[in-house]
Amino acid sequence: MSVRALILALSLTVLAGCAHQAAPVADLPNLGVVKTQLVAYHDSGAYDRDLARVAGEAGAWITARAATLPAGSHPALVLDIDETSLSNWPQLKINDFGYIKAGGCDLDRGPCAAPAWEMMGRAAVIAPTLELYRQARAAGVAVFFITGRPEGEREATARNLVAAGYEGWAGLVLRAPGAHGSAADYKTGERARIETQGYTIIANMGDQDSDLAGGHAERTFKLANPYYFIP
Ligand SMILES: [Mg+2]
Repeated sequence: MSVRALILALSLTVLAGCAHQAAPVADLPNLGVVKTQLVAYHDSGAYDRDLARVAGEAGAWITARAATLPAGSHPALVLDIDETSLSNWPQLKINDFGYIKAGGCDLDRGPCAAPAWEMMGRAAVIAPTLELYRQARAAGVAVFFITGRPEGEREATARNLVAAGYEGWAGLVLRAPGAHGSAADYKTGERARIETQGYTIIANMGDQDSDLAGGHAERTFKLANPYYFIP
């Protein structure tokens, strides 16, 4: 099954998992097969290879582009966090790819609610993205994280990023309390704000189309994520 088909199947799973939807998850065809394939995609190393390929393309672009910019251009790289800079795999897997909105996090038996997991600060580095990050810093490119995580998770998120090896970012943008609107609109607005600070965003990398839509970056780089979808 192609990655696109897996994404479609998982999107259906998420929809079916919403309380207001009539169709129970068990009615979806081949759901167990899809989940087995999702785990195999991760565990086989194919997922990591796909991440590394895209991050490598971003790195090549950043290095080449930064070298052509005139002095004082203030080039910048924008990175998403979840499934871009940090991996939430233990949480995704123990929840059988469901999204748990509230409660605690039991990583041995599940469930593990996303906010509780994020507050633990235990997400693992996505190594190709850390390599890209270091390449960017070495090329004099400022790095900004823009995440859909809420502002209340700032300290835990920063601690997790540092533990994963990210150091010296120019900005860490989280969602303000009570913020409305789509992820795409929020992220687009934040990139525009970075530009008004005098930066030229030469690259934007994320695992969701909503990380990348809306412009305000010279190039976008889309990482694979067949595990969940954020509109
Ligand atoms: Mg993400």
